Amino acid sequence: MAFTLHGLPVSSGIAIGHVHLVSHALLEVNHYHVAERYIREELDRLDDALATVQGELVGLKASATSGQSHSEVGAFVDLQMMMLADPMLVDTARRHIEERRCNAEWALVQQMEHLVEQFDQIEDPYLRERKADVVQVVERLVKVLLGHPGHLPPKRRDGLGTIVVAHDLSPADTIGFRDHNIAGFVTDVGGPTSHTAIVARSLSIPAVVGLLHIRHLVEEDELLIIDGTRGVVIVAPDEKVVDEYRLRRTELELERTKLNRLKDTPATTLDGEEVKLLANIEGPKDIGQIRAINADGVGLYRTEFLFIGRDTLPDEEEQYEAYKAVLKAMPGKPVTIRTFDVGADKALKNPGIRFEPNPALGLRAVRYSLSEPKMFLTQLRALLRASVHGQLKIMIPMLAHAKEIDQCLALIDRARAELRANGQKFDEQVDIGAMIEVPAAAMALGMFIRRVSFLSIGTNDLIQYTLAIDRSDEAVVHLYDPLHPAVLKLIGGTIQAGARYGLPVSVCGEMAGDPNYTLLLLGMGLRHFSMHPANILEIKQQVLRADVGDLAPKVQRILKMDEQSKIREAVARLGG
Ligand code: PEP
Ligand code: MG
Repeated sequence: MAFTLHGLPVSSGIAIGHVHLVSHALLEVNHYHVAERYIREELDRLDDALATVQGELVGLKASATSGQSHSEVGAFVDLQMMMLADPMLVDTARRHIEERRCNAEWALVQQMEHLVEQFDQIEDPYLRERKADVVQVVERLVKVLLGHPGHLPPKRRDGLGTIVVAHDLSPADTIGFRDHNIAGFVTDVGGPTSHTAIVARSLSIPAVVGLLHIRHLVEEDELLIIDGTRGVVIVAPDEKVVDEYRLRRTELELERTKLNRLKDTPATTLDGEEVKLLANIEGPKDIGQIRAINADGVGLYRTEFLFIGRDTLPDEEEQYEAYKAVLKAMPGKPVTIRTFDVGADKALKNPGIRFEPNPALGLRAVRYSLSEPKMFLTQLRALLRASVHGQLKIMIPMLAHAKEIDQCLALIDRARAELRANGQKFDEQVDIGAMIEVPAAAMALGMFIRRVSFLSIGTNDLIQYTLAIDRSDEAVVHLYDPLHPAVLKLIGGTIQAGARYGLPVSVCGEMAGDPNYTLLLLGMGLRHFSMHPANILEIKQQVLRADVGDLAPKVQRILKMDEQSKIREAVARLGG
């Protein structure tokens, strides 16, 4: 019987397809047979997961012994390490893959169940309890394996796509969908500004997150409709409903075609203010899309997507080629490339494996870059070398301290010196900019204004850190409010300070691509918006209808308000 679920719309569009369940919990791992030719790969997945978990345990032990944790932690980690090294567990799982052609998760769970049964028969209560450690260690392995899903089902022949249904997905998993003809995805958890959602939008894959229990409510292969604009998921729809959504999908495509007529129109307001609409991209694969809509440049190239979801880091040459490709594709237009923002939900595979109690507040973005100067310098050299191919701007994420900027600038100087010594060319005038996405930075702008030549407000993190809301946690997503007066004061204050000191300011967080906030941001004085390319024409439509002379005083009044409901009403009224 058909039923409807409501979640958070994170990537617009309509998808009609069949469910493919991706499990997360140990006892509900997918069971499938691996084709003969993929056995080697499946064994490699298991070995990779083993290496990752061993690394995690080493990191856990180090943090336990260096911190104040009890020494029992060390003992339990040793025990789990022993289990990982025990041929009874992993070697037998390997044999199940080879002989029974089980997928790695299934092979591990089978052997775990076998071992647990044996433990149950042990008389000694202490030893009997050790079965919990076997379960835990297998759980760790399975979690890692599920972060790197094996083979997705082949393309369907009935013209309908595959809809991935998962408890959670990492940005790296989502990127992996690019090559698998995935029509849409839905998850139990997640928030609209999580990196997974951002990647879904950039791939134009309709997605709904925060559905809480969808994993348990649908079955493999069941028919599903996703309305990524409204956050609706219809399970097992009948023919009539499917037809209706097919029609809606056609209508949406028509609307998009209409918007397409604006692609060569300059984004100028009714009263003649020029606005720049730039694109957020993840790599050269997005070039086609940004050229098709004639974006004014790239306002944010998230280079970390070159680094995550792979076993080896990209070397200088590979990076140089990627940056060069984007610069060459945008002649005469600015291309702002952000240095890698890894960490938190964009973790590297095997990053020296340190246990982080709170990754969003941990070694992320510029903090990570400065802790790995060799890796950072490689990127800086690649960037500078690419600068001869276009109008490059380099942007540093998540700055909060003057010394972080100073260290970055010193490393950029060092990269320049190394290139000079090698006789390699680069543009001496590349602009260096700072992302304003930590409240401390927005409140102490002077230290940035003195040191860099442009600012870009990352509203996703600025809101996360101002309101203490994990942007990927659906349980607190209702508190994630771009219109909170504290958030507006930080954004408005940054835009005004930029204007006062003649420093260009852009917004490159999701707010810039949300038509609900265009007039507000224009009224604050913003003239550079950077967003996922799919939104540029819709925002342009808003800009073309705006009169900033009329908006500015109204927005000044909004910035003085401190009641969220009043702000919301006033922002809605800006549209007339
Ligand atoms: C932001 O925080 O708003 C931003 C643009 O960076 P990211 O979403 O990649 O963290
Ligand atoms: Mg950010």
